[in-house]
Amino acid sequence: MMLFQPPPPTQYDLRFSVAGIPVSVHPLFWLVALLLGSSGDILLLPVWVFVIFISILIHELGHAFAFRRYGQPSRIVLHFSGGLTIPEPVSWGSGWANVEPTPSQQIFISLAGPVSGFLFAGVIIAGVLLAGGSVATTWLFGLIPLPLTAIVPFGGRVVAVLVSMLLWVNVFWGLVNLVPVIPLDGGNVARNILIQVDPLDGMRKSLLLSVIAGGLMALIGLILLRSIFMALLFGLLAFQSYQYLQGRSGGRF
Ligand SMILES: [Zn+2]
Repeated sequence: MMLFQPPPPTQYDLRFSVAGIPVSVHPLFWLVALLLGSSGDILLLPVWVFVIFISILIHELGHAFAFRRYGQPSRIVLHFSGGLTIPEPVSWGSGWANVEPTPSQQIFISLAGPVSGFLFAGVIIAGVLLAGGSVATTWLFGLIPLPLTAIVPFGGRVVAVLVSMLLWVNVFWGLVNLVPVIPLDGGNVARNILIQVDPLDGMRKSLLLSVIAGGLMALIGLILLRSIFMALLFGLLAFQSYQYLQGRSGGRF
């Protein structure tokens, strides 16, 4: 997810690297993760925070490895609104430059985030089944299977809750991220497809799609999923796309 600009680094950032990709975690990331999980069982709060951390990290690593495939180094920042994978300038002759990915490379890079979450969920499901456990699924709108609860034959309740949460977050939020709303991954995919199909008007079309899809998702979130959080998130993103659209027709974009 790329919702906001990265915050400036603080002395309380957690810093490490995964396979040569630098990761920094802003202190507000932990606070927001705690707040998001605070409606549930207080004893499971550390499990929830761990699940959010691992899931967002895996999503962003998908983007980072896809960037690397095209010769573009990047770094990952986890902060209050989720995660960011930021391309880093590379040495280019006597100076520094960003490698500008082509539209089809952009599509691959955007898809790599949600897909890495789906693959991670697939590995977990395979592990649970191999261990003799089972995973119950629910059907979202009767169309999309969502893994809901895992029964794991070892480790007791905490492991079962950990596995269930990991599956839910990786599959459900991966799907949410694929909705064609800018600046979610699905919005970036739609924009790059529409720009290729219609170089003159593709950008405007993708913003229009973003307004419509964002508005629909806000209604679905509110009415069908009863999630104020989703309604607010998509309402805000639809409004932001609407503002870009207005600015664009006025020639200010
Ligand atoms: Zn993403």
